[in-house]
Amino acid sequence: MLPSLTNQQLTDIANEYGTPVYVYDAGQIAARYHKLTDAFKGHPTRFFYACKALTNVNVLKYIKRLGASLDCVSINEVKIGLLAGFGAKDILFTPNCVDFGEIMEGVELGVRINIDSIAMLERFGNHYGSSYPVCIRINPHIVAGGNYKISTGHIDSKFGISIHQLRHIERVVKTTGLHVEGLHMHTGSEIKDIDVFLQGLDIMFGVAAQFDELEFIDLGSGFKVPYKEDELETDVYALGARVAEATARYEHETKRKVEIWFEPGKYLVSEAGYLVTRVNLIKHTTATVFAGINSGFNQLIRPMFYDSYHRITNISNPDGPNRIYTVVGNICETDTFAWDRVLNEVKEGDYLVFHNAGAYGFEMSSSFNSRLRPAEVMVEDGVPKLIRRRQTLEDLLNGQVL
Ligand SMILES: *Cc1c(COP(=O)(O)O)cnc(C)c1O
Repeated sequence: MLPSLTNQQLTDIANEYGTPVYVYDAGQIAARYHKLTDAFKGHPTRFFYACKALTNVNVLKYIKRLGASLDCVSINEVKIGLLAGFGAKDILFTPNCVDFGEIMEGVELGVRINIDSIAMLERFGNHYGSSYPVCIRINPHIVAGGNYKISTGHIDSKFGISIHQLRHIERVVKTTGLHVEGLHMHTGSEIKDIDVFLQGLDIMFGVAAQFDELEFIDLGSGFKVPYKEDELETDVYALGARVAEATARYEHETKRKVEIWFEPGKYLVSEAGYLVTRVNLIKHTTATVFAGINSGFNQLIRPMFYDSYHRITNISNPDGPNRIYTVVGNICETDTFAWDRVLNEVKEGDYLVFHNAGAYGFEMSSSFNSRLRPAEVMVEDGVPKLIRRRQTLEDLLNGQVL
């Protein structure tokens, strides 16, 4: 069992810092990280935390202390990562559809570059030749994950260079003298089936033969975590054993060494995060009983954006009788978090907690309806610490020409 915060801890934090508030349990992040490193101890493996899931610099500093490296998708994430103390070579920059200037900025900062189109590979090769190593993002066309919206490996995806364009990649590498240090794939999110990773690894081994200077194969991420109580997660121990086995075979056959990299985002931070909200209003209609909370899709968009399920608990009345509610937000849009959800009886003023709110929660928030972004609190060794203050009206006006 992973550790988790108690209702009392969450209630105390809500009382002290107000609601809505995002709360992150550092202990749960650490437990996840240690589980991963333990599962993959059979072969040299590195983990690059995909920081777009949760980017607060305090969280990054904590994850750095655990020993992880960092995966960034924008130059600003790279800069925040450097600020958090990550070494440039411990940052992998994996942008998509950015201009060449942003990639050049990454080179100037000294971080590792992951290229995801032929056109950019050609530009990079013409500009830098063999002087700066690159990683190449391949789309192996493995459709992964249950949800098309969060899959990136399908044939229509904008991500990566198609495996069917391998000859084109080879031509560019040969003519420009590029130093290819790594191959990368990332086929989507919430992949429970470990065969998806193993199939991908197999494809990568096939491609690896073309590149003499290859040092690592990055299998991206998409580890699934349970959102519902009875849901399973990716079996990382089984995956770790199979990856070690396959890699040992590859190394034996080719007489070459290769590191395996992963880029977990959700896996490290999803369950560690809680969004604590307060119930403003109970509203009986002809259709349902609404519990209207002081949040909305401006603060947690996943249910409306991806149809994601988030477990909700009433921490103010955990032993109350079960009743059925439709949980909605307070913004002028249909922001339904859950339709006909069984909750312990809810009264106005109760605290409702959204679980698994650590990944893509705060990070996808907006100030729609001119509402303020929530505060963020991190609990380390049982001690809560404010790591981002609640926004103010001044923050909203900041930058506007008055
Ligand atoms: C988003 C992303 C990840 C992390 O995905 P999760 O599902 O959160 O683990 C990893 N690698 C890349 C390139 C990404 O864009």
